[in-house]
Amino acid sequence: MEEDRISQQQQKYISVVVPVYNEEANIEHFYEKIVEVMDGLPYAFELIYVDDGSTDRSREILRRLETHDARVQPVFLSRNFGHQLALTCGLDRAEGDAVIMMDGDMQHPPSLLPTLVAHWEEGYEVVQTIRIATEDAGFLKKWTSALYYKMLNRISRVPIQEGGADFRLMDRKVVVEFRRYRERARFIRGLIGAMGYRQTQVEFRAPERYAGRSKFSPRKMIRFALDGILAYSTIPLRIGLYGGVICGALSFLLFLHVLYTKFIEDTAVPGWATITACVLFFGGFQLFTLGIIGEYISNIFEEVKHRPLYLVAREKPSLSRDADEDVYR
Ligand code: UDP
Ligand code: MG
Repeated sequence: MEEDRISQQQQKYISVVVPVYNEEANIEHFYEKIVEVMDGLPYAFELIYVDDGSTDRSREILRRLETHDARVQPVFLSRNFGHQLALTCGLDRAEGDAVIMMDGDMQHPPSLLPTLVAHWEEGYEVVQTIRIATEDAGFLKKWTSALYYKMLNRISRVPIQEGGADFRLMDRKVVVEFRRYRERARFIRGLIGAMGYRQTQVEFRAPERYAGRSKFSPRKMIRFALDGILAYSTIPLRIGLYGGVICGALSFLLFLHVLYTKFIEDTAVPGWATITACVLFFGGFQLFTLGIIGEYISNIFEEVKHRPLYLVAREKPSLSRDADEDVYR
């Protein structure tokens, strides 16, 4: 009995953080698979579901799971804040010695958890997974994603692994430090890659979604891709500078040509086409660079407001806090 108590105290604790957005058809299946895998490991665990403003039956299912299994900890956000902020909310709440974040649609296979944990036990503080193939992604998504990471790595100061998924294990100390990053436009995979610590990688093949459709609309995808660029590089700002230097050099040559035609050849013609072409080109170029500057400024504007990153509508009162019935609806 006494031994039991001691082993319980020494048992390490693992938090699994899962953002869900309208995943009614996946939640239970995912829960069963996680429990199956975690029960085979010598750890206690909590399963933090961050419901990112679902409008389907997800919340009802989570409430049911919670009453049936105390290890399930649902947090309901007040509306949809997006995958990255939902993950952040889960990381802020995770209490485990190690925290694993993963998607709730079975595209991040729970069967990989023992491998992640084994690397952690070897002493690695971040175990990052790398997606080597996605079975349900169309050709276009795969191709644009590969191209995007190549470009991002060219222009960013920190290396960002192509195929790096938001499926990773982090040691508690990394999670505690990660909580100090409070920027809104976040690209978590880049932030963690740049944090240092002892990192290792595990490759996996992403199977098709178990049920439902991808929650990333093309609009969300573009926003996310743009956040990645704006957060890790200021090179786009220099496009204007480099472009300006090149145009300056070209216009100097043109100026010499103008002088030559005027004074040496004396055959100045009404170059309407050239002028129109120049005006259009410079107009377009200026608008483009202004647009880039505007993107950075709007990011600065969003960040300086220091608004909360997400709002919680309901969560289990923590033991350390006064249990307030109003909070726990
Ligand atoms: N997700 C979320 N908020 C969103 C979009 C997605 O919490 O606004 C969740 C979603 O429920 C899933 C994970 O993030 O658990 C990954 O989303 P999805 O599978 O749609 O992305 P994909 O695998 O298609 O890139
Ligand atoms: Mg998915």
